[in-house]
Amino acid sequence: TADFTHPGRETARDWAAAGPKRNLIDGQWVEAQSGRTLESLNPTTGKLLARISEADAGDVDVAVRAARRAFEAPTWSGISPHLRTRMLLEMAEAIDRHAAELAALETLDNGMPTWFSNAVIAMVGDTFRYYAGWCSKIFGTTTPTDASMFIFTLRDPVGVCGQIIPWNVPSLMAALKIATALACGNTVVLKPSELASLSTLRMAELIQDTDLPPGVLNVVTGYGSTVGAAISGHPEVDKVAFTGSTVVGKQILQASIETMKRVTLELGGKSPNIIFADADLDKAVVAAVNGFTRNSGQVCSAGTRVFVQEGIHDEVAGRIVEIASGQKVGDPFDPETKLGPVISARQLDRVMSYVDAGNAEGAELRTGGDRVEGPGFFVRPTVFAGVTNGMRIAREEIFGPVVSLIPFKDEDDAIFKANDTSYGLAAAVWSRDISRAHKVARAMKAGRIWVNTFGETDPVMPFGGFKQSGLGREFGAESVLAYTESKSVQVRF
Ligand code: NAD
Repeated sequence: TADFTHPGRETARDWAAAGPKRNLIDGQWVEAQSGRTLESLNPTTGKLLARISEADAGDVDVAVRAARRAFEAPTWSGISPHLRTRMLLEMAEAIDRHAAELAALETLDNGMPTWFSNAVIAMVGDTFRYYAGWCSKIFGTTTPTDASMFIFTLRDPVGVCGQIIPWNVPSLMAALKIATALACGNTVVLKPSELASLSTLRMAELIQDTDLPPGVLNVVTGYGSTVGAAISGHPEVDKVAFTGSTVVGKQILQASIETMKRVTLELGGKSPNIIFADADLDKAVVAAVNGFTRNSGQVCSAGTRVFVQEGIHDEVAGRIVEIASGQKVGDPFDPETKLGPVISARQLDRVMSYVDAGNAEGAELRTGGDRVEGPGFFVRPTVFAGVTNGMRIAREEIFGPVVSLIPFKDEDDAIFKANDTSYGLAAAVWSRDISRAHKVARAMKAGRIWVNTFGETDPVMPFGGFKQSGLGREFGAESVLAYTESKSVQVRF
């Protein structure tokens, strides 16, 4: 907890400490109807960081009705797309102006090291800019017909969008969901995670201050079982966009059935990272370590199963262990820190229970596997070798800095083992053989593939999962389809 300086740290701390945070409903900042608040902890210290409103179904209902009114009013979905572009660009600029503060807030609330939170906030601004460009480019089609008629299609906004996001990269999850929905002319009721709501609330202040009409963006904080369930079950919500665990994703899908909501789900992963003997190993080993330690492994697309070709397995394992064990775990404001804390005591226990499971199943613990004593929720980078694909540590999402190294023989073996999972979010292949890299990329059953890199992302690239990693895509052009409805029109002359 030494006082490392960061240009946004003081402003962020003061903002967090300044009274309980309220909800944004119909353009106003309001307390929960019950008056209740809940504690948001700083995972670096385990101490209180801020109090946020603990809303429930009644608050959600008011927010949804405000979002419905805002959607039906011509002042939002009916305005010129150029005006909407200008507004989204203003939001991007407001975020850029407050980038240091937002990054520091993310570091305080989520525990992510500043090297990561600074990069995340830069991408938040870019995400608003990317979607600002879409407003005037959401095209329908015209189709050939005989001379007696005209047929065309329109893409209408879906309507009121309920958005539920996790705690692992909150500002980017919020930016992606809000920017896409608004660009397409929808209105929003968004629930951040009860564990890390602050960056979303601060961004909502900045967004609302750009003269957004009341009710277009509503943010309601609280628990998933109350606020989240109320959003996903509300009959006036037209679409639910959820990012979080696969278990909760299934509940969201069930809750959507009654009124047949449009649903997109961005869920968990157990992403394979395949290193062939002909790869540039210097780059591959560094990327492999970053792939499972970034944000302390709390990344949905983390490369938690590293498949290494047999001939180079021992060398690669040794190098991964060496780099991982040298990574600094500590105060996320320390510029030297690679890994900050995990989000909560509960998450720390979860990670440690998987370390126990790995040991019990006979995997070979090569480094880490222990928490850092003292306040805060720190765990060291943990490498298991000698893992088989059947072990729990290779099958279940841990969401901590824990990797399984698994040897493979040849291309077919790598493809089979990499795809042998119920998840399908991301995958990577490292090889200097361009044909092999393309072949493996094509064979992967996952929504995002990296070749000779890992974990990079860009708003232009669609993101989402095969299998139980999700439903639908966000980012890129495909997200615009997910936030609009197609309508065909026939005009008989
Ligand atoms: P979580 O599923 O526990 O919670 C996610 C959100 O859902 C939170 O806001 C939570 O309050 C809410 N929620 C919980 N129960 C609910 C219910 N019954 N009804 C409605 N909402 C409910 O996930 P988490 O622990 O916050 O985040 C970690 C998970 O998110 C991991 O599985 C990770 O892989 C996944 N994730 C996926 C992506 C992606 O793009 N695919 C990105 C980031 C995180």
